[in-house]
Amino acid sequence: MAVPEFKMLVGGERVTADSGQWLDVENPATREIIARVPEGDSADIDAAIAAAHEAQAIWGNTPPQQRAVVLERFAALMRERLDDFVVREVEQIGRAIREMRAQLARLPEWYEYYAAVARTHEGALHPFGGPYINYTQRRPLGVVGLVTPWNHPMLILTKKLAPALAAGNCVVVKPSEVAPITPLMMGDLLEEAGLPAGVYNVVTGYGPTAGKALTEHRGIAKIDVTGGTETGRHIGAAAGRNLVNFAAELGGKASVLVFDDVGAGRAVSGSLFASFIASGQTCVQGARLLVQDTIHDQVVDELVKRVNAIVIGDPMDPATQMGPMVSNRQLDTVKRYVAIGREEGATVAAGGEQLTGGDWDRGYYHQPTVFTDIRPGMRIEQEEIFGPVVCVMPFRDEAHAVELANATDFGLAGSVWTRDVARAHRVARRLDMGIVWINDHHRIDPSSPWGGFKDSGVGKENGIVTYEAYTKTQSVIVNTSDEPFDWFVDDATDKRYS
Ligand code: NDP
Repeated sequence: MAVPEFKMLVGGERVTADSGQWLDVENPATREIIARVPEGDSADIDAAIAAAHEAQAIWGNTPPQQRAVVLERFAALMRERLDDFVVREVEQIGRAIREMRAQLARLPEWYEYYAAVARTHEGALHPFGGPYINYTQRRPLGVVGLVTPWNHPMLILTKKLAPALAAGNCVVVKPSEVAPITPLMMGDLLEEAGLPAGVYNVVTGYGPTAGKALTEHRGIAKIDVTGGTETGRHIGAAAGRNLVNFAAELGGKASVLVFDDVGAGRAVSGSLFASFIASGQTCVQGARLLVQDTIHDQVVDELVKRVNAIVIGDPMDPATQMGPMVSNRQLDTVKRYVAIGREEGATVAAGGEQLTGGDWDRGYYHQPTVFTDIRPGMRIEQEEIFGPVVCVMPFRDEAHAVELANATDFGLAGSVWTRDVARAHRVARRLDMGIVWINDHHRIDPSSPWGGFKDSGVGKENGIVTYEAYTKTQSVIVNTSDEPFDWFVDDATDKRYS
């Protein structure tokens, strides 16, 4: 059977790459090639940015109320066609369909939320003094570049796209080469919703070529990336050189802090959710499970039992709880870190192996893995693995828990599990992390600012703050006085200078 081809989207046209090259998209559960997409590079980025500039004159001058109507229509269309997207997401990243369905079902909310923000966002009047009226108004930034990863292809694109479009910007997207299909499919739906041609452009290709060309282009007003910390540093340097706006959602090594009053049962179900959703391939994965020493052994015993019972298999099967790693490269990373953990002297309490033999060999499967006997500072508890590996460490008291949780270069997220309300807030305040959940993990909402401290990023996604970050503020100062004013005539009056 012929492999389906998905073309790029530039200026409303479906196009192949200028170079004529293609790249294959693989299903990580079967290693089958499920699609081919053009291998775009700098020539295609140039064309997409030119098309976006043309469209900017239209979209940037479309009243926010009308932009909101397009986003609302898009949200409704996405709800109708959700199943097509769910299947494609599962095929390209191998995430279990029960998770993918739950995640994508929420995406329309982002477009509805930012439609509402576009309709209701207000300017401001400033106390300038004298006869002056000073108001500020927000204008679109212009053409923005969105660079997205493979782990939540549509969710992460949506977190950037919805505020960017609501605020009147045109976009050029460079999706991960591992998961480009659904960002391309979204183009059809946006067109159907009434988005003018050239507002949403997608150039598929590799990071170091297409991604680099986009992020270094002088024609963009902002670059917004989600990816690894090193990728963020490269892109941030380019943004600095071009003096354009920059936002980056980068790596993480989230801690789950479990106090003994919460009980082992709740601690274990919470940490399973934190650590093994998406086969652990999420930036906020609960990679470090910090447990009060009084219940540590009980939590480990229970956790090992539950981890060994996780149903791994075909991600298309609704009964499957955990699919494969997204790629051979990601599987290798997980195996490499498990080996490092063993060499460092940590104990594998559960899992620790690639699944091989029979049908397992068709995909990139790895067991969910629990490490104990961790010494603080070991690489497995410090570096981002981005896989189903959790390091369990005991703590003595609240101060020790906070110290361990903050002892990484990352600062994306963490969760605090306790029944003591005062302690929950106290600990949250002391965690050097952009997102803290209390008695939960990995919850997200379009209204709730999302983004990391330290090496985990710059700027935020979600919320009004992100709509504003996709605008530039223009300050208008109006002199309402009819009094004559001439600075260079010496008429002995006190003249206002500033
Ligand atoms: P990468 O950093 O490898 O890639 C992210 C994107 O950047 C891809 O589109 C990639 O293209 C592109 N890219 C790579 N190099 C460059 C470059 N030099 N210039 C421009 N673009 C480039 O990340 P992954 O796709 O592997 O995603 C996993 C990472 O994303 C993890 O570190 C994870 O923590 C982070 N992440 C952070 C989140 C957050 O909210 N903070 C959420 C989700 C993930 P290509 O794929 O074609 O190489």
